[in-house]
Amino acid sequence: MAQAIDRRAWLRQALPRAAHALRSGLSQAPAPRLVFEHEHCMPYRGPECGACAGLCPPGLDGLWLVAGKPRIDADACTGCGACVEACPVSPPALRLSRREAAR
Ligand code: SF4
Ligand code: SF4
Repeated sequence: MAQAIDRRAWLRQALPRAAHALRSGLSQAPAPRLVFEHEHCMPYRGPECGACAGLCPPGLDGLWLVAGKPRIDADACTGCGACVEACPVSPPALRLSRREAAR
């Protein structure tokens, strides 16, 4: 019984520390990089699309259309993934790629 109580006490101390470490690690993780593969993108093959445009978070301009084709500003993109989710083709023309953390 005493062992069970000790275990609970240990968990009460350890869990908040683990949660804090996880939050810190996540906040330091670099944003994923948006990758565009034009060979899969519909407007590059004929049909109009544009489903990925206008989905950036307010105030950001990471992806817009030029003559119906996506243009990406990698510096403005936060990697939120909204445009990736909207892309209807398979294999996808947009995907997120994990960036390596700076050392
Ligand atoms: S991933 Fe988000 S921020 Fe980046 S271009 Fe797409 S919608 Fe915009
Ligand atoms: S949603 Fe996908 S297929 Fe459509 S324009 Fe954007 S990248 Fe191309």
